[in-house]
Amino acid sequence: MKIETIAIHAGNTTDEGSRAVIHPIVTSTTFERASDGTYPGGYQYSRSGNPNRTLLENVLAKLEGGADAATFSSGNAAGMAVFQSLAPGSHIIAPDDMYHGLRNQLKNLFADILTFDFIDINNTEVLKNHIKPTTKLIWVETPSNPLLKVTDIRKVVEIAHPQNITVVCDNTFATPICQQPLSFGVDMVMHSSTKYFGGHSDLMGGVLITKEKTSQWQKIRQIQEMGGAIPSPMDCYLLVRSIKTLPYRVRGHVNNATLLANYLNTHPKVERVLYPGLPSHPQHEIAKGQMSSFGGMLSFCVIGGEAEARRIINKLQLFTQATSLGGVESLIEHRASVEGPDTKTPLNLLRVSVGLEHIDDLIADLEQAFND
Ligand SMILES: *Cc1c(COP(=O)(O)O)cnc(C)c1O
Repeated sequence: MKIETIAIHAGNTTDEGSRAVIHPIVTSTTFERASDGTYPGGYQYSRSGNPNRTLLENVLAKLEGGADAATFSSGNAAGMAVFQSLAPGSHIIAPDDMYHGLRNQLKNLFADILTFDFIDINNTEVLKNHIKPTTKLIWVETPSNPLLKVTDIRKVVEIAHPQNITVVCDNTFATPICQQPLSFGVDMVMHSSTKYFGGHSDLMGGVLITKEKTSQWQKIRQIQEMGGAIPSPMDCYLLVRSIKTLPYRVRGHVNNATLLANYLNTHPKVERVLYPGLPSHPQHEIAKGQMSSFGGMLSFCVIGGEAEARRIINKLQLFTQATSLGGVESLIEHRASVEGPDTKTPLNLLRVSVGLEHIDDLIADLEQAFND
């Protein structure tokens, strides 16, 4: 089946009892045993399993073409489950512009347990040189946050797999509508479902999707169940509901982002635009080889430094100055100040989550801010 059909049907079943077409939200924490002590409904206690979570995991696994999915209470909880599944002393290679929340997690919570290097993962020689006998995981994030760098997924897999190194791809920016990393050999995909899956900036969630049910995957399932960083039935329901429109929303985000990137790219007050869909993007050819479309996120650097960047965002009326992404409303932020002192993000960079407003209104708002 095609992705639009999967998005609508794979996360829903008609309720057996009531024949309700949309599956009800099951808030019960506990499930009744039969007289022989078994659990005929298939559920026992809601931390280990809940019908709404099962439906959500079903649709997410199918959207990415995976064998199974495990959902969490946030994207960071999903990432943490991957790190916790590694044996103590394992070595991780991650990109130097890895999502700052996960980079900080490794540095602050795992420094005594795991070892890691943050490198320019796009440089094949650098990547090969950092592999050690203890390397168990290569983390990929493409397009990256906030520089929109694109990593050649196939190339990383080609280097990792002969050495039995797991490759995990944070696919939050691309969504399975634009890019399906499992089809290029990646072992696991991670998402912050707070972003495009939720799509309305009103819930938090995370997910891991696996290509195969390996022993590491069994460990991740245990971390989900025993660690307990699970999403609520209500959040699972909201995600299933939002995912039904994901393909259409993402198409709208991509259309607007493409038009906005073209507008900014020729603007005299803009130094450069970072969008994988632009032919001027340094990894545009790699992006074309692994993405079917180029996502709804872009960054741009303004002429005039940090002061001018801050002046412009303060003049905008339609774009909301806030962090996060993937919602229907356009957001803009001065990224370096969010990421803290060790950031590599240029001080004149503004990151945009392009929403689903009419593109003419978005451009008009930017135009008045530039010209003010
Ligand atoms: C937001 C985000 C995360 C973390 O997800 P949370 O839901 O905020 O915990 C991880 N990776 C990327 C690329 C993100 O944008």
